[in-house]
Order: sequence, then structure tokens, then C-alpha cells
Amino acid sequence: MPRAAIAALVILAGVPLAARGAGANAFTVGTATATEGHAATGTIDVPAGVDPALHIPVALFHGAWPGPVMALVSGAHGTEYASIIALEKVIAQIDPTELSGTLIVVPLVNIPSFEQKVPHVNPVDGKSMNRFYPGRADGTQTDRAAYAITREVVERCDYLIDLHGGDLDESLRPYSYWARTGNEKQDAVSRGMVLAFGLDHIIIASDRPRDANASRYLETTAATRGKPSITVEAGSAGTVETEDVDALANGCFSVLRYLKMLPGSAVPVEHPVWIERVVTLSSDHTGIFYPRVRRGTYVETGMKLGYVTDYLGKTVLEARSPAEGVVLFIAALPSMKKGETIANIGVVAARAP
Ligand SMILES: [Zn+2]
Repeated sequence: MPRAAIAALVILAGVPLAARGAGANAFTVGTATATEGHAATGTIDVPAGVDPALHIPVALFHGAWPGPVMALVSGAHGTEYASIIALEKVIAQIDPTELSGTLIVVPLVNIPSFEQKVPHVNPVDGKSMNRFYPGRADGTQTDRAAYAITREVVERCDYLIDLHGGDLDESLRPYSYWARTGNEKQDAVSRGMVLAFGLDHIIIASDRPRDANASRYLETTAATRGKPSITVEAGSAGTVETEDVDALANGCFSVLRYLKMLPGSAVPVEHPVWIERVVTLSSDHTGIFYPRVRRGTYVETGMKLGYVTDYLGKTVLEARSPAEGVVLFIAALPSMKKGETIANIGVVAARAP
């Protein structure tokens, strides 16, 4: 953390609550309140309901200069570690005295998943924490957390980036998602954001909900509320490689420069590979998976991606690519259950959108 940010935290701790909450020069998210040019930390509190309460940590940077509000969120899947560590890095490096506008950073939404090392879901209720937006105040913990994040983060921001990465069982090559909303102005800004972020493979997501009350994903919750937003992924099978962490952290800084929230100019990715559709190959057998290609490999339709055997070595499934394209991710572990994803193949778009 820069010295100024530490100083800001120290100063804030001594400011009385009444002085913090009042005035147009303070910004509050959850229990964190920051005055202009300062940082603060706190929690977004999800009250107990049918299951326990959850306290989601939030870092808030209220810039010294006027500007928009950006939200960076990771750890909906608490074992997608590279994305979580990337936002820890962003928290350590943002200096609110050089920031125009306000930055909300939520590095770890799914604390139970992180602590218990459970992939994909919140172990408290078995739900993915990126599928139940905009959430419900009277649901299980995942629903209530989504409800709190919608109110405290999405409704407070102007732009949003949701960060993910290959989960424990996913060998993933980095990519981002750009979803068109049909609002040309909004789509032009989110397109600029995804190019500024810098990942060189971009999925054109065309299957996102259009109903703000059934938005399902965090990014879509922001998008359906008129806020340009993107989802980005880097990291593979639980690893925390410098290359992945830096790609995600630097991508955030670059988007902040693109939006004029930080000084300097963004360097957008030139000629990215646009993916027009993602084809999933799932296993119709339970057994042991042996991959035969690496993440990022370009494959032809019918090419062998790997195979599944029973527990005594008899091949029960030849995994062949259902499409021509790039292996966005392939199963990273030998454990393969019927119905689980073997690989996602990205079909390259004929032209840039
Ligand atoms: Zn994820």
C-alpha cells in the first residue's frame, strides 16, 4: 500500500462517524467511509437469515479529484486465486491522491469457498455466487450476498469489472467477455474497456439476460442497470502465476486510465481474437480423465482432446472437439463426473464486432 493510503487509513480511523457520513465529500460503501483523497476499509455486511451472516471485505478509494465510480470485484468463486490476488495487488497500489473519482474494490466475495477450498460454489448453500443476481434479502447466504452487493456496489458504481480465473479443476487460458446490451453508447464504452483491459482473446457474449430483475451474473446486473461492465478471466487450476496476476492487475489499471480515473494513457490490445461462441464438451461418463491437448491450443472439429477411462483403465469415452477453435479451458484434474465439462472451445469470429 502506498504511504499516502496508509496515512489515509490512519487519519480516517480518528474521524468521528458523524463527520464521515455527512457532507458531499465523503463516500460510503458498507461500513467503509472515505473522504476525498483518502482510502478506507470495511465490510459489506450480509445479515444472518436461514443460514449464517457473511461479512465481505471492501476497500474504498475516494479520489482527490472528481470522476466516476468504478467497482472491481473478484472471488465469487473463492478458489479462483489468481483473480483474488490480483485485486489484493490493486488495493496495495492505488493512491487516492492521484485518483479521479472513486474506486470500490471487493477482492473476496465467497469467503467460505476460499477458506474451505471448495470450488465453484458457496459451501454454505451449494450455490454459485455468480448465478443468483440481483439476489434476495430472504434467500440463502448466496442470495443475500448478491442482494447486498447489488445495493452496495452495483447501484453505487458507474462501471464494473468482475474478475475470475480458472477454478481448481479448470486449465484455462486468459480471456475476457464483452456482452452487447443493444445500447450503442454503453456498448462502445464497454468495448473500449475490454480492449483497454488487454487480454487478447475476447468472447462476444450473446446469451446474457436482458431483465434487470433476473440478471443472474454480476456483470449483467451492472449492464442491465446501464453501467458499462466486463468480465475477465486469468489463472489456471488454483495456481497463482505472476503472469496471470499481473495481466489482471495491470488490466484494471489500464481500464482506470482509459476512463481517465488515473493519469496516463491506456494501451488497448491490438487485433484481439474475438470469439463468437463457446461450445462445451461434457462427459457422459464418470471416470478418470486424461487430457491430450493444452489450454490455448487451436483444434479442428473431431480432434482428440483426451479420453476418459473407468477406474480399471478401460476407455469409456473418446473426447473429441465438437468445434474448430481455441481450447479456452480443459479439465485440469483426473476426477471426471458424468455431466461435467471436459473442455470449452471458443469459435473464432470471422470479423471483429
Ligand atoms: Zn469464476
